[in-house]
Amino acid sequence: MLKIVNPATQSLLAKIPADTAASVKRKYRLARAAQPAWARLRPIERIDAMTRFREQLVARREDLANILTAEVGKPIAQSRNELTGVLARIDFFINNTTKILKDEIVFADRGEKLEEKISFEPLGVVANISAWNYPYFVGANVFVPALLTGNAVLYKPSEFATLTGLEIAKLLHASGVPADVFAPVVGGGEVGALLARQPVDGIFFTGSYATGAKIAAIAGRRMIKVQLELGGKDPVYVCDDVDIGVAAASIADGAFYNTGQSCCAVERIYVHERIYDDFVEAFVASVRGFKVGDPRDDSTYIGPLTRKAQLAVLKRQVADARKNGARLVAGGKPLARKGYFEPTVLIDANHRMELMREESFGPVIGIQKVSDDAEALRLMNDTEYGLTAGVYTPDRGRAEKILAQVNSGSVYWNCCDRVSPRLPWSGTGHSGVGLTLSTYGIQTFLRPKAWHLRAV
Ligand code: NAD
Repeated sequence: MLKIVNPATQSLLAKIPADTAASVKRKYRLARAAQPAWARLRPIERIDAMTRFREQLVARREDLANILTAEVGKPIAQSRNELTGVLARIDFFINNTTKILKDEIVFADRGEKLEEKISFEPLGVVANISAWNYPYFVGANVFVPALLTGNAVLYKPSEFATLTGLEIAKLLHASGVPADVFAPVVGGGEVGALLARQPVDGIFFTGSYATGAKIAAIAGRRMIKVQLELGGKDPVYVCDDVDIGVAAASIADGAFYNTGQSCCAVERIYVHERIYDDFVEAFVASVRGFKVGDPRDDSTYIGPLTRKAQLAVLKRQVADARKNGARLVAGGKPLARKGYFEPTVLIDANHRMELMREESFGPVIGIQKVSDDAEALRLMNDTEYGLTAGVYTPDRGRAEKILAQVNSGSVYWNCCDRVSPRLPWSGTGHSGVGLTLSTYGIQTFLRPKAWHLRAV
């Protein structure tokens, strides 16, 4: 039995039977049997099912937002934002799938009677092992294009977002996706490992580097597509020519939205020495303006941590940073209420601190002073991760010069913590391999077949 606990109250929300080795195997077999018929449908039939799914998300937005808030602790306004934001992704996939599925004739020579063509086939049955922090976003990045392109999906929501995962499955089934073509798999890490061991044609994972490495090891000898969307330690650099108040407010939001539990949350801030003190003051003022509270309350901006265990990580990072010379200017400890951590800002940070090297994944941020752009760039690249990085300056040339040299999948000028359906979402280093979103994020669920056709 999987116990679902409300992180804001620590009370039990539900007990759900978890999958077993036998049931995972059965779901795999049924998906394998059902996938060819799903792939044979005309693309428009799969698009119609996804359009109905989209309509249901709209119709049930409030109800689904409440479920998400209850099990993940996401402030309700941010749960609603996620349910609205996911629609643009679904639209992008719906609008771009048909053209991507079309055969491409890349060469035709009448004299030689030779044609070269590329056709696109679904991978087959794919496993989607997912995270809890944005279950609609990170889930839809995978299962929507996977289904649209004719794959069957064995979908394991995080054990911290299972109720949401099961709602997603119900809505897809009610929209016309056969139950065996999209099968939810329920459980924790051990069930994820069982799923990864099935003879699937691809594993699409979103989660931590530590788990991603285990999945890569399980899949290592199988020669299947393995896509890993992992964590980050995303930096921003604030140049000396910014509007300090505007930059501070934008970066504070990027660091603390979703209670800091975003893969692309700002996790490290480098500030030019000329504006360091003024920036810190404006940043702390922004952070003090965030309302911490009951996630069901419309005005709450920071809620509980989804996983209680993360409190210990944050405590350790704060203690280690202080021991190594950081100064605490806001927050610094767990709150008296269950599962909450004060929004915390540490200044005079440096790279000896875990705070500037390990993913925090919570409402804690370090700020470090730098003397010029070259130092900022060196520090931004001093990490195992490479998901996103941002530069704040009115000077586009200055920003682009720095961002071109940053090792990360996405780069931002005067913005942060932003994802677009039109752009590929990927990471370098410990942030993962492969990508979702954009037209490349549809192609990734297809196998191009090369046709050499000679008429006689
Ligand atoms: P996690 O690695 O703990 O769990 C992710 C999923 O893997 C869960 O469904 C879990 O049950 C499963 N799992 C755990 N152990 C497993 C194993 N041995 N074999 C197979 N499956 C296993 O991560 P999380 O706490 O759910 O998510 C937070 C992490 O995800 C953060 O590091 C965050 O940065 C990252 N993340 C990345 C992106 C991205 O797009 N790059 C998006 C969201 C979250």
